[in-house]
Amino acid sequence: MESLKPCPFCNQPGTLERTRDISHYWVPMCSNARCGCRLCAWPTRREAAQAWNERAATITTTTTTATTEN
Ligand SMILES: [Zn+2]
Repeated sequence: MESLKPCPFCNQPGTLERTRDISHYWVPMCSNARCGCRLCAWPTRREAAQAWNERAATITTTTTTATTEN
């Protein structure tokens, strides 16, 4: 299974939760309830994990670029 990167906003571990409706999609979200970071639902666990990791990577890269530019 894909390992999830930490949340780009609060650095807590990411997690996957299944929707309660009939689709039973996977929703990538932050394990920190007070953070509330979550993405849209995906049909498979793997796609949800990839979406979370890409989102985390995008934000981390943006932040890194901004701080390393002089
Ligand atoms: Zn978070």
